[in-house]
Amino acid sequence: LLRRKMLGGPELQLSRLRAQAGPNGVLTEYNPNYEFGGETYNLTDLKEIPRENLQLVKALGQGAFGEVYQGFFKQRAGDSVEMPVAVKTLPELSSNQAEMDFLMEALIMSKFNHANIVHFIGVCFDKHPRFIVLELLAGGDLKTFLRESRPKPERSSPLTMKDLLTCAMDVSKGCRYLEENHFIHRDIAARNCLLTTKGPGRVVKIADFGMARDIYRADYYKKGGKAMLPVKWMPPEAFLDGIFTSKTDVWSFGVLLWEVFSLGYMPYPGRGNQDVMQLVTNGGRLEPPTNCPAPVYGIMTQCWHPIPEERPNFATLLERVGYCLQDPEVVNAPLPVFQRPPSSERDV
Ligand code: ADP
Repeated sequence: LLRRKMLGGPELQLSRLRAQAGPNGVLTEYNPNYEFGGETYNLTDLKEIPRENLQLVKALGQGAFGEVYQGFFKQRAGDSVEMPVAVKTLPELSSNQAEMDFLMEALIMSKFNHANIVHFIGVCFDKHPRFIVLELLAGGDLKTFLRESRPKPERSSPLTMKDLLTCAMDVSKGCRYLEENHFIHRDIAARNCLLTTKGPGRVVKIADFGMARDIYRADYYKKGGKAMLPVKWMPPEAFLDGIFTSKTDVWSFGVLLWEVFSLGYMPYPGRGNQDVMQLVTNGGRLEPPTNCPAPVYGIMTQCWHPIPEERPNFATLLERVGYCLQDPEVVNAPLPVFQRPPSSERDV
């Protein structure tokens, strides 16, 4: 259905002509549908905001499509109140495929409404460069935050067990919402969660929906193969048989919990994907992180039950993480103190 070639030469000129013909160019030409909560949506359902009300301030990072900027948004041109935002950009010279992916990402994010999922503000799709405007999550991603919070020779970790469990609660609330809405995320991992702020009072939100978006691609099943998949976060039925359900996300959440309690280690340290698939298929699992309280590791192992139906759902997981937060033995347990990592694990 979609043209897969990168734009160039006559192809590019044609696309420019089309862009001049219709207000949204290729977007209106293909206009894909997106279903969520029993309703069907398309491009016309996206809230378009005036570009003039946006001010881009500085680059935050490079995304899969283009640069992501920090900026400010005014509801009306004359407003004095400005809201901090993140602006995802799609470069002008993008393929039709990238245009459709960008549109689908906007559609997916626009329909969520939950405190632990990044809040969508609007799009500027009227012309190039196209923008997706989101709430600013200024604390960066969860994995980097955890790694920065590791104990050092000169200071212990600034975090407590309570901080770690609160992060886990936030993610499980977001996941419970997705589960209730029959949305399979496919890539729950610390790198895909962002923080409102690094300091106390931080809220963790699920902020990346790239893997869920990619299944809408016409060429999804031809693409990349296993090299592209987050194998270390996937259950056996997903990497062996391509079966994805909410219980896939539950397994991944267990691995995220392990990331949180290991303060951002790469799961299965020192092992490659092929090796991990074999290990996990044969019943091998991640070891408990250093100083991980037994009830917390217990939750992880429940998420990694070989039979998907036997894994708890997110409503139950939220309850169990909540019990850990109420358990003084868990909450008062110390975090690991600084250890010089073995040379083989320096970069994990
Ligand atoms: P990718 O395409 O690699 O999944 P993204 O496009 O989601 O990455 O994001 C690229 C960069 O922008 C990342 O460093 C991410 O942390 C940052 N970023 C994305 N969304 C937001 C947001 N809402 N608030 C703050 N930073 C964000």
